[in-house]
Amino acid sequence: MNDDQQRNSIYDNLARLGNNLSEMTDELAALKAQLNTVLAQNAELTIENKHLQEAIKKLRDQRGEQQLSTGRRTLNELYHQGFHVCRKHFGERLAPNESCIFCDEAIFSGMDGQQSKQG
Ligand SMILES: [Zn+2]
Repeated sequence: MNDDQQRNSIYDNLARLGNNLSEMTDELAALKAQLNTVLAQNAELTIENKHLQEAIKKLRDQRGEQQLSTGRRTLNELYHQGFHVCRKHFGERLAPNESCIFCDEAIFSGMDGQQSKQG
């Protein structure tokens, strides 16, 4: 390998290294963006989970101590705060302006906590 060849080889290697570095920088930026998204979602879910836990605790406390009508009021409150209160989707978020026929039934026909004669 003469001097020229050796010099060219070094330049080639440097160019390759530069390309790799550029690709890695792009990947790093993409990963950072993904991480930010995940962290934001995590914060949102943490808050939502806390609210849900509080709401469920409130529901359980009231169901244990008070009459069904109050329990239903709480269900209704939860429902209007945007959470399912039906057995099928209990605790899940309702989409904006979504209504759920099962939630209505849970609130207004008292299928929870009171077994009707119809079964
Ligand atoms: Zn529902």
